[in-house]
Amino acid sequence: MQQQGKAQVHEIQSVTQTTCCIVGGGPAGAVLAYMLARKGVEVTLLEAHMDFERDFRGDTIHASVMEIMEELGLAERLLQIRHAEARKFILDTTTGKVTIADLTQLKTKYPYVTVMAQSKFLDFITTEAKHYPNFHLLMGAQVDELIEEDGSVRGVRYRGQDGWYELRALLTVGADGRFSRLRRLSGFEAIKTSPPMDVLWFRLSRKDTDHSEGLGGRFGKGVIVILLDRFDYWQVGYIIPKGSYQQVRAAGIEQLRRQFAETVPDFADRAVELKDWKQISVLSVESDRLPRWYRPGLLLIGDAAHVMSPVGGVGINYAIQDAVVTANILADKLKDGVVDVRDLARVQHERELPTRLLQAFQTFIQKNVFAQIMKSAQVFQMPLLLRLLLRIPLVRKLPASFIAFGPFPVHVK
Ligand SMILES: Cc1cc2nc3c(=O)[nH]c(=O)nc-3n(C[C@H](O)[C@H](O)[C@H](O)COP(=O)(O)OP(=O)(O)OC[C@H]3O[C@@H](n4cnc5c(N)ncnc54)[C@H](O)[C@@H]3O)c2cc1C
Repeated sequence: MQQQGKAQVHEIQSVTQTTCCIVGGGPAGAVLAYMLARKGVEVTLLEAHMDFERDFRGDTIHASVMEIMEELGLAERLLQIRHAEARKFILDTTTGKVTIADLTQLKTKYPYVTVMAQSKFLDFITTEAKHYPNFHLLMGAQVDELIEEDGSVRGVRYRGQDGWYELRALLTVGADGRFSRLRRLSGFEAIKTSPPMDVLWFRLSRKDTDHSEGLGGRFGKGVIVILLDRFDYWQVGYIIPKGSYQQVRAAGIEQLRRQFAETVPDFADRAVELKDWKQISVLSVESDRLPRWYRPGLLLIGDAAHVMSPVGGVGINYAIQDAVVTANILADKLKDGVVDVRDLARVQHERELPTRLLQAFQTFIQKNVFAQIMKSAQVFQMPLLLRLLLRIPLVRKLPASFIAFGPFPVHVK
């Protein structure tokens, strides 16, 4: 069968029909697919890659998501996967260690951040979804085109291993992340904020004797380092001012090693492992949101609708919370075979305010903490007033609660 795309003609191998087609097997797409399948909706999840390898992603699952997992009956099995539990965020500064967020005070069965390889989390959710015969997972399916008829999106065209395919659907959900193809195909323009930083992303070896709660953060002279324990190795996020990579590179790898060792002295012996710039990836930190997340037949969620800055490590949470709200609102409608554009608008309506509030909080921290540290030639010192305030348990609870649950916690209906 031949089909006329906007610019190209493709030889279509087959045309199939589903009720909900979800593009992108990240946290948003995988959880939505699971929840819809569980409700009896015919759902197909398309993922461009052949596996869930997530080298360039984070690994944090906050208490709000653990509560969602419990509501879905998955928490106990999920926690059998290797993970760490971070209960306090402690900052090493020249003026001593300061607890900036204490999760142990949160009223939840899960008063910690679960640090788990995102690939393992996604494998787990999709394996659980496979128990439902109405769930279909297509790996190596790169969605490139929308099918549009009479002003509505009616599905997608994707490239599989051996050619082009067409998948028709009552609803298409774009959960294809920060470089969303569906966002571009729909012609949506994002409103961007400008995080003042980029990240150098590299691995260092891990020793059996390393003590870890899964996560770590250090502030040095103009430098911020984030450490993620991936059990076999340490994933390091070394934060640099936006657009300064060429400058950092010109200063030489020795300078990078020195600054890293100064900032994280207990890892100084491992800095020598950085020998070549090829070991280091530069990740541009972005943050944006779409003014409109939907069109007839199409809804965008997760990073595709709003790219979250890494501050607070909440992108996964927000993506999953979007998925839960989408399933809560749309599962029955999808089963009945009628999804109105007003139902899609309700999803945006419920999720937009929390997203905007959190992005505003991230912007505040980026401007007032991250940018200040990166500008300074001095080692960061926590201001006295803040240090005193953070000694009050209730004050320490606030950022923890805001990051863990957001302003309006989401639950499975
Ligand atoms: C370096 C880095 C570190 C981070 N650290 C953290 C952290 O510690 N904690 C945290 O909560 N968040 C973190 N984040 C953010 C977090 O990873 C994202 O917010 C989250 O993954 C968004 O989930 P999502 O499902 O919306 O999109 P994604 O996780 O980006 O998933 C999108 C999926 O869609 C697939 N896809 C893309 N295009 C297509 C296509 N055309 N066809 C088919 N499939 C497609 C992709 O392969 C991908 O699997 C980090 C982000 C980065 C970049």
